[in-house]
Parts: sequence; C-alpha cells; structure tokens
Amino acid sequence: MAAKVINGEQIAREVREQLKSTAAFLKSEGITPGLAIVVLKSPVARIHVARLKERACRQLGIYCRVHYLAEDTTKAELEQLLIQLNADPKIHGVNIHPLPPSFDHMLFSQLVAPHKDIEVLHFLNMGNFFRGEYKLIPYVAKGIMRLITATGESLAGKRAVVVGRSRLVGKPVALLLLERGIAVSICHSQTPDLAAFTKKADLLVVAAGKPRLITQKMVKTGAIVIDVGVNFAGTRLVGDVDYWDVKKTAGWITPVPGGVGPMTITMLFENLLEAVKVQ
Ligand code: NAP
Repeated sequence: MAAKVINGEQIAREVREQLKSTAAFLKSEGITPGLAIVVLKSPVARIHVARLKERACRQLGIYCRVHYLAEDTTKAELEQLLIQLNADPKIHGVNIHPLPPSFDHMLFSQLVAPHKDIEVLHFLNMGNFFRGEYKLIPYVAKGIMRLITATGESLAGKRAVVVGRSRLVGKPVALLLLERGIAVSICHSQTPDLAAFTKKADLLVVAAGKPRLITQKMVKTGAIVIDVGVNFAGTRLVGDVDYWDVKKTAGWITPVPGGVGPMTITMLFENLLEAVKVQ
C-alpha cells in the first residue's frame, strides 16, 4: 500500500492559526511581537525567502523589519547592527540569513542577545538545549518533530536513523529523538553501507542535501520517512528521497516541496512568540 503523505502545508497552516491568536492576545496586552531579519550579500533566492517571511508576519500580526545589507558591509557594521537590535525594544527575535563564507555565521550568532536568539545558535542556548533544559528548540528540528507527531504513530521501542549530522538539522533532530526515548543512529558521508542502517529504520530522517539519495530498496516497509533535503534538479525542487519510488512501500512520507519547508518558517515564528513571552 502506498505511503500516507504528511502534509506540511496543512499542518503549518493550523499552527499559524494558533500563532495568529497568540499574537493578537499579546497585542491586546500592549506588546506587538517584533522580528528582525538580517540579509547580507544574499543571492536572490534568499531575498525571496525574506519577502515570504515578511508577508507571513503581516498575516500573523507580527512586526517585521528586514535589514538588507549592502555587499560591501563590513564585519564591524554587522556587529553594530546586531548590538542595536539587541537594544531595540520593538524587536524580540533576530534571524540572520546565511552569511557569506568570509563571515563566520556562528561567531555573529554569539552577538545576538540570548533572549532574542530565536534560532538557538547562541552557545548559552545551545548548551541548555544539549542539557535538555531549554526554552526554545532549534526551529528546523522542532518542525520535523511536529510532522512526526502528526502521524499519530507511537514511537515507543522504535528505531530511528538520521542521515546528516549538521549543527542545524541532523544533530538537533537526533537529540530530540533521543529525548523521546528512541534509539537513534546518525549517518553521514563517511558511513559505510548507508542502506544497512536505513533499511532497519522505523523512522528515517534524511538531511544530506543529496538529491534522491534514498531509494525504495533502502527503506523498511511501513517506515516513517521525513525528507528535509531541498535540491534543484534543473528547475525542479527535489528532496533527498526518491519520493515516488519510496512512497510505494513506506508508511508515511513528506513531499518536497510541501513537507518540512513550510514547518520550518512557522517554527521560527513560534519561537519568536515564545521569546516574547519570556522577555
Ligand atoms: P549540511 O550542513 O551540508 O549537512 C549535510 C549532512 O549530510 C552532512 O552531515 C554530511 O555528512 C551528510 N551527507 C552528505 N552526503 C551524504 C551521503 N552521500 N550519505 C550520507 N550522508 C551524507 O546540510 P544541512 O544544513 O544539514 O541541510 C541538509 C539538507 O536539508 C539541504 O538540502 C538543505 O537545503 C535542507 N534543509 C532544508 C530545510 C527546510 O526547511 N526544508 C532546512 C534546513 C536545511 P558529513 O558531515 O560527513 O559531511
């Protein structure tokens, strides 16, 4: 039987309705949640994402300010902007779009005040997350966990495999699964015989950035498959999972687009509103 589709668009829409109510409540208390987005020397695609976020903020009742920085912005100028945003009472959360390689993204994330670090990249917040004592959860991983929960499947005693060990996706997802009491294996580019791991997974999360890396013969029948990958095949967007092939035998599957993506931005907004509550 073909896999059931986990509809990220629909789940994200439902969450956004709740966020709209929360933002309206905060407004009635005299607080307008505020998001600052910092976009530096970004290719057009990233600017497009910033515009999408701006539009979504308007729909949710969130104040949003995008700082489009010129190509010749210096490190000192970026530092100055982040310091200003930390002191700005209208801003409750800061989202820095991927910086060019000459700027150390992780280093600049340390300049964001921990209580405005809605990406959970400040070492203090990362440390608390690692210790299991945290207020905010890294937003990509948080969205993935929501999609898994939406299946309604019990994960007790299940085996999970995460393909990818990045700081942004693979590691936080693995940690959250571990906290749910699930046995987790993390695979990466140096894992020999990847299929030997993936075939045993009741839950497979793939975040490798390699188009159609995972094929049907690598997936256990009935498994939950979460495809985080976003890759371009010509002009088409494809995931890390060979969707139509794997869909034939998996239990649940996320499409690309329309799976993890819509949840990611939504979880950033959710983190923002949670940050407002603790400020
Ligand atoms: P990343 O930092 O490049 O990490 C990729 C990971 O995959 C690395 O750990 C790498 O292993 C591993 N890997 C690469 N090739 C592999 C292979 N052939 N077999 C097994 N593992 C392999 O990427 P990321 O930031 O985690 O993102 C991963 C993908 O998710 C990208 O396509 C990205 O665009 C997408 N993404 C989507 C969203 C969304 O909202 N939908 C959000 C974030 C990211 P090594 O560590 O050994 O190099």
